[in-house]
Amino acid sequence: MESSAKEIWFLTGSQNLYGEQTLKEVAEQSEKVSAELAKGISSGVKLVWKPVLKTPDAIKRTMLDATSDDNCIGVITWMHTFSPAKMWIAGLDALGKPLLHLHTQAGQSLPWGTIDMDFMNLNQAAHGDREYAHMVSRMAIARKIVVGHPSEASVKTRVDAWVYACIGWNKSQNLKLARFGDNMRYVSVTDGDKVSAQMQFGMSIEQFGVNTLATEVENVSDSDAEALTTTYEELYEVAEELKAGGARHDSLVYGAKIELALRKILEAGNFDALTSNFEDLGTLRQLPGLAIQRLMADGYGFGGEGDWKTSALLAIMKSMTPKGGGTSFMEDYTYHFGPGTPKVLGAHMLEVCPTITKAKPTIEVHPLGIGGKEDPVRMVFTASASTGRVVCLVDMGDRFRLICNEIEIVEPTEDLPNLPVARAVWEPKPSLAESAEAWMLAGGSHHTVLTNAVSIETLEDFARIAKTELVQIDQDTNLRNFRKELAFASAYHRLAEPLR
Ligand code: MN
Repeated sequence: MESSAKEIWFLTGSQNLYGEQTLKEVAEQSEKVSAELAKGISSGVKLVWKPVLKTPDAIKRTMLDATSDDNCIGVITWMHTFSPAKMWIAGLDALGKPLLHLHTQAGQSLPWGTIDMDFMNLNQAAHGDREYAHMVSRMAIARKIVVGHPSEASVKTRVDAWVYACIGWNKSQNLKLARFGDNMRYVSVTDGDKVSAQMQFGMSIEQFGVNTLATEVENVSDSDAEALTTTYEELYEVAEELKAGGARHDSLVYGAKIELALRKILEAGNFDALTSNFEDLGTLRQLPGLAIQRLMADGYGFGGEGDWKTSALLAIMKSMTPKGGGTSFMEDYTYHFGPGTPKVLGAHMLEVCPTITKAKPTIEVHPLGIGGKEDPVRMVFTASASTGRVVCLVDMGDRFRLICNEIEIVEPTEDLPNLPVARAVWEPKPSLAESAEAWMLAGGSHHTVLTNAVSIETLEDFARIAKTELVQIDQDTNLRNFRKELAFASAYHRLAEPLR
């Protein structure tokens, strides 16, 4: 959303030993490398080249500046020449932003026929970067290493994926979430330690009584709500009974009032995400459905039944979604075990984001069958076919765990004429049976974030930056090994926890 103002700093390491002429060439070459790398950044984040770093003081100053600059969301380092790594200790220690180590050279090919010692002295990253990487490993600083010439597509893709992770981390660090009502009674996986979440991810989880929203809905004028329903009629296929003059138009007007009231509260408090809970709707007449779907489409996170972790993860993953991609709140709802490839039918009571369909949603009103309120308006559509993944964030008591399952979103093979909610149908990897077994062994939630666009590499980079375990379930998952992975990871994360 606001990523165009953000920056990644490109830092080049060297030392004064080489003399003025060589250092001038180092600077020229690193500017070119930076400019080439910038061509691969698809998110709108700017890559900012900084003057070559040659002393411990300059390194430390630059790292402190990167850490305090609100627009800087990550740092790329490259040791063009030999930059003795003791010079980097204080700077690396001061760095509070994600780090990528680019291991590259100015030239892609060696000039075999003309190569001399001047060339060798200028092009030393092969050992300069190893000296630096030794220190980063010794200091146990989480970072991504990308190796290759910046003109290579794979180098650009890997850096681009990491930049999206930096956007997500920046979102997480500044995330504010409004909970309307508390967690659903007795439910375990949607609950968790909000203090630990703020310490680890930066997110601030804040609670409002649901009548804060209900009162704001009452304050929305009929004319403002009517105007919004006109927009609905332009953007979506609105059911005849809900259109202006239709028998149930009032339901749509009330849905529009919920949207306007929610936007007012979220904008006033600078919130990025929200939760609702159908168990506690106060004086609200409908469960918010259409409003939540429209907010999600604008980048807000959402979780049902007070599920603040999924809501926050959705806001983060939406910030990491490349333009044109789709990311939604989702729930594993019901299964098709066969015949044919077993599938999951995912949906929620109402709240699925329309960014995951290419079709024009319809707006309809139907009974909810739960909660005892008036029939809520909602968008109805089916997610478009795509590869994708479902991701959850769970609180294991002593730590948070991200779980990701690779999926194939498919068109339903039959019509669903009586299902009045938005839905997605998918085939999990490696199979429904193995995926569900692995997911449950890992303690994964029924609520997830479904994306057809956030790459697995971005999620891996995000987890590393967030120092959070990422359990992956994909085509290569083997249950016997998976059980061992979970056991090893459990031991590792307990050992790796800092002493408090
Ligand atoms: Mn739910």
